[in-house]
Amino acid sequence: MKPTEDERQRILLIFVRSLLKHAGLQAWISLGLGVLLGLTQGVGLLMLIPFLGMIGIGASGSTLGIEVYLTRAFSSLGLPLSPLTILSLYVLIVTAHSTVSRYRDILTTKIQYGFSQALRNRLYQALCRVEWISFLHTKSSEVTQVLTSDLDRVSFATHQSLQLVGTTIIAAVHIAVSFTISVSMTLIALACGAGVLMILRPLNRRAIDVGKAFRGAMSDLYSTVSERLGGMKVAKSLSLDEGREEVFQNITNGVTDRMVQFTRVNSATRMYYEIGAATALAGFFYIALEIIGLSSGSLILIVFLFARLLPSFSMIQQSVQRISNALPSFNAVAEMQKRFEANEEPAFVGSASPLELRTGIILSRVSFSYVRGSGIWALREVDLTIQAGVMTAVVGPSGAGKSTLADLVMGLLSPDEGIVSIDGQTLKGTFLHRWRRSVGYVPQDTFLFHESIGSNLLWARGDATEAELWEALRMAAAEEFVSLMPDGLKTIVGDRGIRLSGGERQRIALARALLRRPTLLLLDEATSSLDKESERQIQEAINDLRGKLTIVVIAHRTSTILKADEIFVLEKGRIVEKGSWKELSVRPDGRFRSLTWGWTV
Ligand code: ADP
Repeated sequence: MKPTEDERQRILLIFVRSLLKHAGLQAWISLGLGVLLGLTQGVGLLMLIPFLGMIGIGASGSTLGIEVYLTRAFSSLGLPLSPLTILSLYVLIVTAHSTVSRYRDILTTKIQYGFSQALRNRLYQALCRVEWISFLHTKSSEVTQVLTSDLDRVSFATHQSLQLVGTTIIAAVHIAVSFTISVSMTLIALACGAGVLMILRPLNRRAIDVGKAFRGAMSDLYSTVSERLGGMKVAKSLSLDEGREEVFQNITNGVTDRMVQFTRVNSATRMYYEIGAATALAGFFYIALEIIGLSSGSLILIVFLFARLLPSFSMIQQSVQRISNALPSFNAVAEMQKRFEANEEPAFVGSASPLELRTGIILSRVSFSYVRGSGIWALREVDLTIQAGVMTAVVGPSGAGKSTLADLVMGLLSPDEGIVSIDGQTLKGTFLHRWRRSVGYVPQDTFLFHESIGSNLLWARGDATEAELWEALRMAAAEEFVSLMPDGLKTIVGDRGIRLSGGERQRIALARALLRRPTLLLLDEATSSLDKESERQIQEAINDLRGKLTIVVIAHRTSTILKADEIFVLEKGRIVEKGSWKELSVRPDGRFRSLTWGWTV
């Protein structure tokens, strides 16, 4: 959908407001330096008038006033109005101009990158605080795009905006100087410039539309790269990506096409503008020379001024278009920020100390749907008690709602209906944070940073001592293999832990979870993808933990749940059976029996 004119102006306004709010005093200093730059350039130009007079190209009319004024200014300083003093002053002014220009450049860069950095940090903070369900509904490639490419474009738009202000100030000074030379000719030139800009206005709107299309093409690129990377192993093993470069090429072609499209718009503006300006200048020159009969000195000055003024008009126009082109990216940043903030979890306040689970976790008539109001329930009216200090297992076919149940128990998701309570206290608000600090969670696809084993463990508890790290590794049956590695705790695990075997990765993940000294250990299919030996090692580690903390195991394999004190069977979002292994396995026609038939112990 194309943005309306109101929508465009609204986005532009929000952009300018946020920029001014961020830059604060810096924005005004930059503006002040811009004015100073304009003035030094203007005074530098004015110095040329008496100089031209001295070398015999006399100016006439209004310019005489300036000469008189300059003579007075010079004599009040006790200086003669000679070529030496004028030229020395000229060099001095240019020096001042360049110095100010340098400081302004540095300040501009600080504002430019400071602004995008502040937006990036704010968005990342909102991302960390957003409710899990909102995160689930957000494409990760979209977040990546907004945090990288879109914010780079915002940074570029910021640079263009600051440049625009600078160019506008300098253009204003040029106009003022032109007025001192000839009011009528300046007015004619301004009218011509404004006319050309008005004619080219629709191209600004086009720049926004092209910017939006460019964002769309980049979005395709980001999501394709992210999906392809995720499925790289499968694609490689099946040679699926061979010959599929074409799909990728089409996407990158799209990005290039949009960029070329924008350059077409932008360069067309410049081209039309330059042709229009040259025509106006030629006409203007003709009128000045043949009809008004301006003196040669004034004419040279005016041509000189206009030769500088007209490109600044063109630059203003180009900057406006570049800003317009980047506005859809700014809009994407602002929209994502708004969406995340609207779905923020309650802020973390109060005690950060973990909880002790004394009686247990109770789910009372809990229902949950991923799409509110759809009537499709992932869990429906679930009543379940997880007793403190025992091992509880949840089994069921794929899609039964086991992971959803785990997420509700951790407080990542909150029920649409019913209550989840911990020792009688409803799991909501700020209590959520305290509870989550008390949970050790190990999922099926564990996540490790491309860092050392030690750093990966410390991520869970930064203040742990080396002895505590080894203790956690021991409890997770990982002590031996880590100590056998040449670099021990300093061993780099590789991107996403690729240098470790699946079993080793899971044991590191278990150690990491245990390092937090959790009151609840939650294993969501943590051993499902492991070989028997790895699974056995983890299983032994878990068995050793029994009685020391509350354990919830979501599993497929019998060996994992054999020792569970209580087993819940979940099917289509409902609890259909519960009991111990012994009770359930002898129940004739029971769900558990049919589910576990053929399972290996
Ligand atoms: P299990 O862990 O038993 O395999 P899940 O808890 O993952 O089951 O899923 C339960 C139901 O919720 C399934 O029907 C699944 O399609 C749906 N579901 C899971 N995650 C999402 C999600 N992020 N968005 C929409 N539906 C989901």
